Order: sequence, then C-alpha cells, then structure tokens
Amino acid sequence: MKTMTCRDLGGPCDLEHHGETADDVINAQDRHLKEAEKAGDATHQEARDAMKNRWRHPKQSLGWYRGTQAAFAALPDR
Ligand SMILES: [Zn+2]
Repeated sequence: MKTMTCRDLGGPCDLEHHGETADDVINAQDRHLKEAEKAGDATHQEARDAMKNRWRHPKQSLGWYRGTQAAFAALPDR
C-alpha cells in the first residue's frame, strides 16, 4: 500500500490517497476532485478541469500519467 496526496496529483490540499497501484490513487483523486467540485470548492477547480481534460485527451496526457506512475513506483511501500 502506498500513499500519494492530492498535492502530489496536481491538487491544492494534503488529503492522502492510499492504493496498491497508481491507478488506485489516480481514481481516488478523481473522486476527490469530483466531490470538491460538487461541494463548490473553488480551490480544486483548476485540478478538476485538468483531470477532466486528461480523460478527454488521453494521448496528450500520457506524459502526466507516466510521470505519476513513476512517482508512485518510487514511493516506499508501507
Ligand atoms: Zn484536495
């Protein structure tokens, strides 16, 4: 199990996401950003829009995705 924060994933806060794979934490961040948007949290809007854009343009987003996977792989397993 590894931990990445909202900030690690391009967001503005220090909420921790836990997962076995990079996809787990990316999906957790996606849920977190959706909830923040629903709650009217403007501080997360930029990260939310960036994440939406990534789903829409997966090819252009490969760099971000690979970078996140590499960062996740480099984390200590706890
Ligand atoms: Zn956050």
